[in-house]
Amino acid sequence: MRIRELLSCGRPSISFEFFPPKDEAGVRRLEQTIGSLAELRPSFVSVTYGAGGSTRDQTIDLVARMRPEFGIETLAHLTCLGASRAELDEILGRLERRGVENLLALRGDPPAGDLRFRPHPEGFQHANELVAHVRGHYGLCVGGACYPETHPESPSSDLDLFHLKQKVDAGCEFLITQLFFDNQKYFDFVSRVRAMGIGVPIIPGIMPITSVSQIERFTKVCGATIPHALLTELRMLRDDHHAVLSLGVAHATAQCLELLQRGAPGIHFYTLNKSPATRTILTAIRSVYPPARSPAGSWV
Ligand SMILES: Cc1cc2nc3c(=O)[nH]c(=O)nc-3n(C[C@H](O)[C@H](O)[C@H](O)COP(=O)(O)OP(=O)(O)OC[C@H]3O[C@@H](n4cnc5c(N)ncnc54)[C@H](O)[C@@H]3O)c2cc1C
Repeated sequence: MRIRELLSCGRPSISFEFFPPKDEAGVRRLEQTIGSLAELRPSFVSVTYGAGGSTRDQTIDLVARMRPEFGIETLAHLTCLGASRAELDEILGRLERRGVENLLALRGDPPAGDLRFRPHPEGFQHANELVAHVRGHYGLCVGGACYPETHPESPSSDLDLFHLKQKVDAGCEFLITQLFFDNQKYFDFVSRVRAMGIGVPIIPGIMPITSVSQIERFTKVCGATIPHALLTELRMLRDDHHAVLSLGVAHATAQCLELLQRGAPGIHFYTLNKSPATRTILTAIRSVYPPARSPAGSWV
């Protein structure tokens, strides 16, 4: 089912993001995680697209296997990084042949140590070009990324929004946000986006905090901020894994419930390939928003 249709059912979508493991043992572990989370009836799952060649094949394989093996709708991520148009076409063709219906079209990050994104000479410079290409040549439903706290490379939030509008005008049918920990950032962002005439659904991306050092590393790279009070509390608990996990889960649960109550179209969980934190949060969400079948059969 196309995600755009799924989002128009009037019920919140629940989705999980996974990354392709590097080895067979990782694949087995991920299958267990997906199996455990599949019981919670997600609307769709997404698989990220890495810089390395082998995990790229894993992305296509995983995303193509999930619907037949787990009965869950899928979203394949694809980046422009290091690929010519012909190489991207080869991947897009493989995805379509294997029955994938949804694509998250991304630019990708510069490789570690490189400050600037360098487009492939025969490829695309920005995600909006990939979106336009896919919409023009393929039947896939296309989504894109957006940044409530502004993309770290952008000189201003106004310019970032201007480029977001270009991406949506190119054919992007839904957006998933970068992770954030303060819901007000999402609500303010959505208001500004709507004021620009962008009407597509904006799914908030939520990452439950499970480790202080890990979340400090992630937020430094992606530019998301942790509210001062939460950060202070986390730093006090730093060495107590269980206490950090409890606080992270409690914060994310409160975030998700408020987002849904105030009209967010769904929640996209950055799972980091682990199930316990997401399971606990989703159990709370499902007590308020029990799953139901969409007319086309997917869970919403
Ligand atoms: C939900 C989500 C999923 C992600 N999944 C992956 C993944 O699977 N693999 C991966 O490698 N990375 C992934 N990323 C990270 C993403 O690749 C980076 O954030 C990257 O730096 C930007 O990607 P984008 O698609 O938003 O780029 P773009 O939309 O191209 O934007 C990048 C920057 O360029 C500016 N810009 C955009 N269009 C133009 C234009 N036409 N002219 C000039 N400037 C422009 C924007 O303002 C922004 O500053 C994901 C991010 C999110 C939020």
